[in-house]
Amino acid sequence: MALIVQKFGGTSVANPDRIKNVAARVKKYRDQGDQVVVVVSAMSGVTDGLIKMAKEIMPLPNDREMDMLLATGEQQTIALTSIALHALGLPATSLTGAQAGIVTDGVHTKAKIKNISPKHVHELLDGGNVVIVAGFQGQTLEGQITTLGRGGSDLTAIALAAALKADLCQIYTDVDGVYTADPRIVKSAKKLPEISYDEMLELASLGAKVMQSRSVEFAKKFGVVFEVRSSLNDNLGTIVKEETLSMEGVVIRGVSLDKNQAKVTLVAVPDKPGVAARVFKAIADANLNVDMIVQNISHNAGMPATDLSFTVDKPDLLKAKLVIEGLKGEIGYKEVLADEKIGKLSIVGVGMRSHPGVAAKMFETLALEQVNIDMISTSEIKISVIIDLEKGEQAMRALHEAFLG
Ligand code: ADP
Ligand code: ASP
Ligand code: MG
Repeated sequence: MALIVQKFGGTSVANPDRIKNVAARVKKYRDQGDQVVVVVSAMSGVTDGLIKMAKEIMPLPNDREMDMLLATGEQQTIALTSIALHALGLPATSLTGAQAGIVTDGVHTKAKIKNISPKHVHELLDGGNVVIVAGFQGQTLEGQITTLGRGGSDLTAIALAAALKADLCQIYTDVDGVYTADPRIVKSAKKLPEISYDEMLELASLGAKVMQSRSVEFAKKFGVVFEVRSSLNDNLGTIVKEETLSMEGVVIRGVSLDKNQAKVTLVAVPDKPGVAARVFKAIADANLNVDMIVQNISHNAGMPATDLSFTVDKPDLLKAKLVIEGLKGEIGYKEVLADEKIGKLSIVGVGMRSHPGVAAKMFETLALEQVNIDMISTSEIKISVIIDLEKGEQAMRALHEAFLG
């Protein structure tokens, strides 16, 4: 008898038929005698719809109220999934994040899990129940409802698998696994039988939304091996695990495009010590994540001054702009520019460490496509560039062809 955590994403629970399909799959495992914990997302489109409604009322709604609102999406699906299991004659109980013992910090809309007390889940399992847990949500010690950032049901599943010491963790989605690029954009993308945590982490944080990056970080930290596979067929998926020697032989594992980034530029910032520190302290205090940073000499100012650009997640752009505008008097820059029409295109592979010339080939390929590079950042196992959003998909296909075609 195994303990299995199975997570089903939004498209896998998009309507009553899909939910029945989930229940049938759970039943197969249950009939073999396994204990099953099911984590579900909101039905596809529901979270987006809730956000849209709130923003129609106010462009920057209060984060605590957003969590109160967004948590309802997953609460619908846990109950429906439980009902679908009852319809098949299986005992099942739905639990909110809080009821499942998921305790988070108080950073609303992007809370971090502090700990999980799985006692209640174990009791229900031992009583013969399938336990269905709402993804994406938790509760602070003070009883406030929180959410774990977009795509956060992945994190719920991985964290529960770690806390319950599950034998197996399966992430069911609407594609057959992790591909060398988003199969919806690059038709020739290939499914990977396995991928290392580090590569998956880079791909995920660079835009491959098949896994939430924080969930992969968590899996790596706690050694949770998991499989990404389709809820629509029985094909084997992709195993995500610690790097093995044979993985080094492949130079590039995948290409990803992040369309969810925006660039903020402070024009003509006085060139003196402490300015960058002040800017990024203020951004950090507002709980905004900064990704790439570029600073260079400004040519259009009379006194020594630099342009300072950085990227943030698109939904954080308005907040970031407000924070920077609040520093105008103190810092004395000329103006703030915000650009949403950018894309971050990246190539990822642990084999890059031992193969020179990868950056040159990437830049040459982009030059041939007449794609201008705006910012560059690299790590040991990835190279990312910021380019014009309009050329993003074309450039992605070109890089895939050059490295993985
Ligand atoms: P779920 O609702 O199940 O969480 P998501 O929509 O969050 O599913 O993630 C699955 C989607 O991720 C796929 O439909 C696919 O378009 C996209 N995707 C992006 N990059 C990749 C990749 N490298 N491999 C597989 N899917 C990818
Ligand atoms: N429903 C949430 C979202 O759309 C969480 C998830 O689907 O993982 O981001
Ligand atoms: Mg997802």
